[in-house]
Amino acid sequence: MMAIRELKVCLLGDTGVGKSSIVCRFVQDHFDHNISPTIGASMTKTVPCGNELHKFLIWDTAGQERFHSLAPMYYRGSAAAVIVYDITKQDSFHTLKKWVKELKEHGPENIVMAIAGNKCDLSDIREVPLKDAKEYAESIGAVVVETSAKNAINIEELFQGISRQIPPLD
Ligand code: GDP
Repeated sequence: MMAIRELKVCLLGDTGVGKSSIVCRFVQDHFDHNISPTIGASMTKTVPCGNELHKFLIWDTAGQERFHSLAPMYYRGSAAAVIVYDITKQDSFHTLKKWVKELKEHGPENIVMAIAGNKCDLSDIREVPLKDAKEYAESIGAVVVETSAKNAINIEELFQGISRQIPPLD
């Protein structure tokens, strides 16, 4: 019998970077251009990791990030955070750093951080080099991957990256 571990994962990042779309792709393997912000809220998916099962309880912001302050309960008890930027928007990479700061101030200690450079299907209009993201991720001890919720690129890998950072129970 494999032990099931519930892992709360909260999403962070500017409006429009694709947070809800990433959740929707991961949980439902579906992409919708007109996703409504509430659709992605509190979705779950269970994946095997070694001899455990990781049940991700995924919290989406439901648009609250617009006000630049998320309620403390949003972070509380999170095992991991996925911090998303849009590779075609340099601004969204700049504010990524603010989200990390916010997470360090309000999130649990030892939270696993995974950075997603989303919309990698649009690399012809890229503004953020992967190298910059890798350097930054390394400096804060986060994992980083470029994703496309639209074309289903590296979405599973993003969450596998989280699973690998969660120490096994025994
Ligand atoms: P959120 O505000 O961060 O939750 O972002 P959404 O998930 O609502 O996505 C914002 C917009 O970006 C929507 O129009 C999505 O269809 C689009 N989008 C999301 N992910 C991708 C992607 O991987 N590639 C492309 N080309 N568009 C995407």
